[in-house]
Amino acid sequence: MEYNYQEIFIGGAFERSTAPGRLDAINPATEETFGSAPDSTAADIDKAVRAARAAFRMSGWPHLAPTERAKFLHRLADIVVEKQDEIAALITAENGMILSASKAFNVFGGALRFNYFADFLETWQQEEIRPAVAPKGAFADGHSGTPAFRAPVGTGGTSPDTMGSTARTIVRQEPVGVVGIIVPWNVPLSSISVKLGAALAAGCTAVIKPSPETSLDAILLAEAIVEAGFPPGVVNIVTGGDEAGKALVAHPDVNMIAFTGSSAVGRQIARQAGGDLKKVTLELGGKSAGIVLEDADLDIFTEGLPTASLGGYSGQSCRASTRILAPRSRYSEVVDAMVAKLSSLRIGDPLDPTTQVGPLASSAQYERVSGYLEIGKAEGARVVLGGGRPAGIDRGFYIAPTVFADVDNRMRIAQEEIFGPVLVVIPFDDEEDAIRIANDSDYGLGGTVFTKDEERGTNVARRVETGTIGVNTGGMPPLNSPFGGVKNSGLGREMGPEGFGEYLVPKSIVRV
Ligand code: NAD
Repeated sequence: MEYNYQEIFIGGAFERSTAPGRLDAINPATEETFGSAPDSTAADIDKAVRAARAAFRMSGWPHLAPTERAKFLHRLADIVVEKQDEIAALITAENGMILSASKAFNVFGGALRFNYFADFLETWQQEEIRPAVAPKGAFADGHSGTPAFRAPVGTGGTSPDTMGSTARTIVRQEPVGVVGIIVPWNVPLSSISVKLGAALAAGCTAVIKPSPETSLDAILLAEAIVEAGFPPGVVNIVTGGDEAGKALVAHPDVNMIAFTGSSAVGRQIARQAGGDLKKVTLELGGKSAGIVLEDADLDIFTEGLPTASLGGYSGQSCRASTRILAPRSRYSEVVDAMVAKLSSLRIGDPLDPTTQVGPLASSAQYERVSGYLEIGKAEGARVVLGGGRPAGIDRGFYIAPTVFADVDNRMRIAQEEIFGPVLVVIPFDDEEDAIRIANDSDYGLGGTVFTKDEERGTNVARRVETGTIGVNTGGMPPLNSPFGGVKNSGLGREMGPEGFGEYLVPKSIVRV
């Protein structure tokens, strides 16, 4: 497999980037370079934003009947599914995610997101008429609260005040405009589709800047956009690095930035966007708690570990419950059960269907996670599993699933996002103590409560400061429910009506 792209996707056509620089695609399982894409410049971004603006103003896309926009999204979903083998294998080659997860999360996860927003449009009402309300009892003499400064044409009398009881307002939801989409490498197509699906459904146009590690699959998406027949300029895809991302955020003709990535970059984007009064959604990092209450079924807990705590992707998942909180009364039992489960996972080639744990995505990730292994050891935590490269694998960016026991929640390995297959186990005294430790974090993205008593688990979940939390499950919420973080984990929501609403601005048209 060799992919060498010279072109980026602007205004419905593939055209040569002005960039001299290239982004290499390095297979993390083999460390071999197998492709490259343009490292686009601010000039390329500018051209893409102009195309998106022109499409927003002139293509008619925002004014199409919502059910017509839905047809494009359904077509796009079908094409992504048709290309499933190529897309899934390419993403696995780029970021090392095991093939089955790549297909499930990126291909089917992506298509489901396009279809969800398309279906949503079937019943969505863009406009509603609101009769004015007369607040009760505010003014005993019947005054409406605002001066009658204008007499309506032909009445010759006092104005029926528009803030009073006679006005009817059309409240209309309009698309935000041009949306800049910036995503990381871990689930690239899923991260794009959740934003692009909502943006297109709302009538926005978009410029996508994928992660430099996963540029190539974004070009496959551009080919699918062409095949689906979207009007030129509605979707533009510009491969590039951080500088291209900065140019997109700073561009004066972009109305909104939808970002997934690290909290540090999210903060920079929020600062810039705040100064420019641009709307932002930020899906950022996490350090979520997996709370194992003393009545938990440890089989359910350990069965879920590969997905809930390793995110199906060597822990390179923002929502993974990587901080395991275990009751002192069952501490060793929980640690032993984790070691038994994680040591049974097959580590190897991510293309091999029997592999359960693949490599990390890049040498930078390998260095970062290795660094945290050293920090944990230096902080006095006890390595009970893993702690370095897996035995017998001497090529590729592999780190074995690792469990640190005897961890204090104040340690860096308990507070900072490691983004690798590294779990820490922290003891707690009782339920109150577990909730206190869970909330003693700068992050608030995911989480899980394990217990045989669903009501008890739900009550604990209500008290954890987070955006999403499961009871006996660590999965993503269903498509109709919002996903997003609190604290350093982000602003805004994706999926569900709440996620769709991020791409809309309400307009009030007042009539008397
Ligand atoms: P990153 O923040 O370094 O980069 C993300 C994207 O932002 C890339 O496309 C990058 O080129 C671009 N970028 C970098 N600096 C920029 C700037 N100043 N302005 C504009 N764009 C810029 O993150 P990463 O290392 O690629 O991804 C890992 C991070 O993503 C982790 O922290 C993880 O938790 C987070 N993440 C969050 C979610 C979520 O839904 N909350 C999902 C996946 C990943």
